[in-house]
Amino acid sequence: MVALFILGPLLALLVGLPIALSGWISWLDVGLAAFFYVLTAGGITIGFHRYFTHGSFRANKPARFALAIAGSLAVQGSVADWVADHRKHHSNSDQEGDPHSPWRYGTSTRDVARGFWHSHMGWLLADDLTDVQKYAPDLLKDPMIHRISRLFPLLVAATLLLPAIMGGLITMSWAGAFQALFWAGVVRLALVHQITWSINSICHITGKRPFKTRDHAGNVAWLAIPALGESWHNYHHADPTSARHGVLWSQIDPSAAAIRFMERRGWVSRVRWPSEDRVRSKLVDPDQPVRISGALLAADAEDAKESRNAPEPKQSQESSQPQ
Ligand SMILES: [Zn+2]
Ligand SMILES: [Zn+2]
Repeated sequence: MVALFILGPLLALLVGLPIALSGWISWLDVGLAAFFYVLTAGGITIGFHRYFTHGSFRANKPARFALAIAGSLAVQGSVADWVADHRKHHSNSDQEGDPHSPWRYGTSTRDVARGFWHSHMGWLLADDLTDVQKYAPDLLKDPMIHRISRLFPLLVAATLLLPAIMGGLITMSWAGAFQALFWAGVVRLALVHQITWSINSICHITGKRPFKTRDHAGNVAWLAIPALGESWHNYHHADPTSARHGVLWSQIDPSAAAIRFMERRGWVSRVRWPSEDRVRSKLVDPDQPVRISGALLAADAEDAKESRNAPEPKQSQESSQPQ
């Protein structure tokens, strides 16, 4: 069953390209695919990853519900399963016990090629399951999360059928429904999968490592936009609870921007924005001349404005909470 949902969309992606070139795609399909891509990939990056796994911010009940649903629509397992795997990854990163390290078989080119496949997709097809009770007891206890997990099969159907219904209604045709099902349902799902898994494979094999970590996590710039900011993986492993992963100048982080948007509207709160001092303290070379991201400084400036009356406006309210 897992194999069907992993390999099925991939196959559709591979046959999709020649079909697209033959003209069997409309702007409506592209628009619907982009909408569902951002919704479901964002559900993973903002919801499953930064919020449920790492607690980078607090969310009110509707936001918590929406993030759990949006992440589930990416068809990467239920919230608790996903979080358990990812917390296990951080506790054993690139060591024995990491569910998806590309360094599992060794460091030779051949070993890393085998490791690439394992970290990208192979681990999902393996039988060894993560102990959810051990790694995500907080989510198992949550009745809302429990209910959403039970709805998982329905959400898998919804992620495919919603684009089809929208495509059908907008074009008022079965052909439009089928075309949207293919592009904005199946092919979009495959793209979300491939990009998420690239963080586990590519970002643990290659990339720049200006920050101190005890693993191989690297920053991979070309993946930043499709991965909605998750490919700044070197900083993420240096500071896992940070709500922003792209902390250096020009490092685009759309997920952080979305969290900022939700914070301004009061949907999320107590966001762990890293202070400039904190970012610098994570550098391998603290004297390295780096420019911290503009948006990050804007966040700092706003915090400073709020405490304008305090004698020391420069503040670092950062946290030492684990994970
Ligand atoms: Zn990682
Ligand atoms: Zn993480």
